[in-house]
Amino acid sequence: MRRVLILLAVLCVCDGVKFGQLCSGNSANSRRTSDSWGAGHYGAPRGSRVHKGLDIVCSDGSTVYAPFDVTLHGKVIVYTDPNKAAINSGINLRGEGLCVKLFYVQPDRTSGSVRKGERIGTMLPMQSVYPGITSHVHVQMCDRSDPTPFF
Ligand code: ZN
Repeated sequence: MRRVLILLAVLCVCDGVKFGQLCSGNSANSRRTSDSWGAGHYGAPRGSRVHKGLDIVCSDGSTVYAPFDVTLHGKVIVYTDPNKAAINSGINLRGEGLCVKLFYVQPDRTSGSVRKGERIGTMLPMQSVYPGITSHVHVQMCDRSDPTPFF
């Protein structure tokens, strides 16, 4: 019985945490549904692989905001493919007990603290690499667990 209680306490640390607006023009954090390149939900198929994030709609060139009070922990390298260099950037964030990676964002800076709702960077030109895709920020938990409950 005691073990169950401890487990529940651990699970509840992040209970109630919700991402604030991530991208200008998308105040509801609307999600990418499905387009010719795939679907945006966690667990969507990617060829032989699985999508380990949640895609939030964000037009190319939009402003990206801190989803809660965060500290910045360096840039993310998304791809090794030089053909995708135009969108090969992201940012590592921590806050609210969460560790999160945002892909396809050119960060303004890569260290320090940013308050919820303040800008952290700019959405990269995703259409130049994936024509016709629903441009989006890819939200991935550092442990690759499902971020959907936080939206
Ligand atoms: Zn994604």
